[in-house]
Amino acid sequence: MSKAMELLLNALFPPKCVFCSVRLPINQRIYVCAECFDKLPYCRTEKRCTHCGKPTEDGGMCKDCLLRRNYTEGITSPFVYKEPAKDAVVAFKKRDNAYRGRTLSLFVAEMVRYDFGGVDFDGVVSVPPRRLRMNEEGYDQAECLARHTARRLGLTYYPNVMRQVGNMQKQSTLSHNARFDNVRGGFAVRCPDRIKGKTLLLIDDVCTTGATLEECAKILRESGAHRVYAATIATTLL
Ligand SMILES: [Zn+2]
Ligand SMILES: [Zn+2]
Repeated sequence: MSKAMELLLNALFPPKCVFCSVRLPINQRIYVCAECFDKLPYCRTEKRCTHCGKPTEDGGMCKDCLLRRNYTEGITSPFVYKEPAKDAVVAFKKRDNAYRGRTLSLFVAEMVRYDFGGVDFDGVVSVPPRRLRMNEEGYDQAECLARHTARRLGLTYYPNVMRQVGNMQKQSTLSHNARFDNVRGGFAVRCPDRIKGKTLLLIDDVCTTGATLEECAKILRESGAHRVYAATIATTLL
């Protein structure tokens, strides 16, 4: 998009902060207000689990990651799932708010460079839409975020690599352990040829237990992917 076109569009539809929705000047390119920028709950400033990136007291691996078998090489998120980052994640689930992906991906890409800077990625994939969610919203925010993040990192996005199989309950209604049971065997790889031998960045909007990310990484690796790293916008506290 040309600069003139962007300014015209911004004049017609004034940009809003992706976190608090306050109106921004029309020439602002990154849709974050100064106030949110300062108070965002950045993970980077905390001591974090060496695997899942969640803040921990001593910066060592958290109990959850120690006790289970992990299939990702690591998970990272720029933010803790607290205000105002939480507002942005919730709003981003709605199709009308897809524009937020462009700004949110900036933070995700920056965090991927920070935590996985030495990794030579081949491409980006996204957690497939849970059917339940697609029926409700008809839009796939993980894909939207993955496309923007891939562009920012100069990587290829591989669309539709995985799909959901079988019935799955909404993860948010389940306890920690039930979430791992719920997603087990819940995904399948559609096109293994595309990911064979590849080092992948797996994207989802939010990380709670990490169950979905680890299950997706498991089937990606069983289908021939070399390594899988994961990134989300925000991670819940332990
Ligand atoms: Zn704001
Ligand atoms: Zn952990």
